[in-house]
Amino acid sequence: MTTELSCPQCRKKVLWSDEYPNRPFCSKRCQLIDLGEWANESFSIPVSDDNNNDDNWE
Ligand SMILES: [Zn+2]
Repeated sequence: MTTELSCPQCRKKVLWSDEYPNRPFCSKRCQLIDLGEWANESFSIPVSDDNNNDDNWE
């Protein structure tokens, strides 16, 4: 019997099996979202301002 859970990110159904290597997330993407590492992807989310040196390069 396979344990069934839902992705913490998108609530999609995930089975606890090798079909879902990123479990409990449904996909790598949801995993990255959760880790906050998706800023490098093409999504634009507000990033924290640790870049406070205004060098005026607009
Ligand atoms: Zn998901």
